[in-house]
Amino acid sequence: MNKELWALKGNLVWAEKAGEMSMLPGGYILMEGEEIKGVCDKLPEDYADARVEDYGDSIITPSFSDMHLHAPQYPMMGMAMDLQLLEWLQNYAFPMEANYAREDFARLTYKKLAKELISRGTTRVCIFSSLHRKATNILMDELEAAGITGYAGKVNMDRNGGVNLQETTEESARETRLWLEENKDRKLVKPMLTPRFIPSCTDELMEELGKIAKENPDLPTQSHLSENLEEIEWVKQLHPDCTHYYQAYEKYGLWKDGTVMAHCVYCDEKERKAMKDAGVWAIHCPDSNTNIASGIAPIRIMLQEGIKVAMGSDVAGGAKLSMPEAATDAVRVSRLRWLFSGKKEDFLTVADVLYLITGAGQEYFGAKPGFGAGDKLHAVVLDDSDLAYNPFITLDRRLERIFYQFSPACVKAVYSVGVKRI
Ligand SMILES: [Zn+2]
Repeated sequence: MNKELWALKGNLVWAEKAGEMSMLPGGYILMEGEEIKGVCDKLPEDYADARVEDYGDSIITPSFSDMHLHAPQYPMMGMAMDLQLLEWLQNYAFPMEANYAREDFARLTYKKLAKELISRGTTRVCIFSSLHRKATNILMDELEAAGITGYAGKVNMDRNGGVNLQETTEESARETRLWLEENKDRKLVKPMLTPRFIPSCTDELMEELGKIAKENPDLPTQSHLSENLEEIEWVKQLHPDCTHYYQAYEKYGLWKDGTVMAHCVYCDEKERKAMKDAGVWAIHCPDSNTNIASGIAPIRIMLQEGIKVAMGSDVAGGAKLSMPEAATDAVRVSRLRWLFSGKKEDFLTVADVLYLITGAGQEYFGAKPGFGAGDKLHAVVLDDSDLAYNPFITLDRRLERIFYQFSPACVKAVYSVGVKRI
């Protein structure tokens, strides 16, 4: 059966690389069913009778990817932002996560989270759950029901969690295997191996996770890396044979192409080179890094070195769920690095961060950055008509203004996997 030809019309803006913003005012995204056929400024003849979803003067960009957030911490967004990482985890995040032994609570929270994510234009995620297998399945169900795609992870932690948030090593490995089996046929939200971070996982558990990764070559890994100075010191004590944090993942076979590492604030030259050589992705979370005073990641340097970088909200170290807010935070903190480096280290621009919250995630999930022919449509329609009337600005400045003043009210429509969700 032939699929329907249809098109979206609006001011198209996208970034295929960091710093390279492409614009097509009054452009069309040509569609066949759920799939993009191309973009153009005039409808071709075979689309003469096609349905056109015309968004007038609104801006259409690829939808956003949130490549690092903690679903169970959603109810504690904006809490205890006067602490640093280790105290914050122990006193707030871990006790919160323990509540997800209750499935009714998980259902309620994750339904609301999924709805909020899609309403803010996020259609792709790499997301942490808690250590609870059943609650993780609920999270995956709710994300899929809202039209969100990507990876979710049942967290592994068999030490330093506290009485109500810790598995035995054997339990952690067994539950992970069972969870992988339960979710092997999922289409939209797939499983991802998720050791919380090195201090949460014994060597025996890491060994087990390494085995699971080997048994499942397509199963990617997400975790945390070099976020906070005390954390790094702790990892050194736990793994005295490692000169660098990353080696504690590497020695168990989890440091590899497609591994996603959040934060990377203190990665030195050697650690960055190891990322590049292995194809590990750095996920920049500037709001969280500021809130719990972790530091400012050297993202401009990483991009110059050819490291793959994307962005995350890191809810709830981050207190904002919208990726355009993460994007502008990335620009802000990079401006500070620029200033404090004596204006030597370049800052990030909106054209850089547009790529980091759209194109980078598209690439991670195997699509072309932008509106690539053959890919399923993931797009967001952004509307600035409620902002102060200003007819004098160019399209790129309009996008910048929407990003800096972003609220869900700016989101007019969201498409995920070719289907209109909002
Ligand atoms: Zn995190």
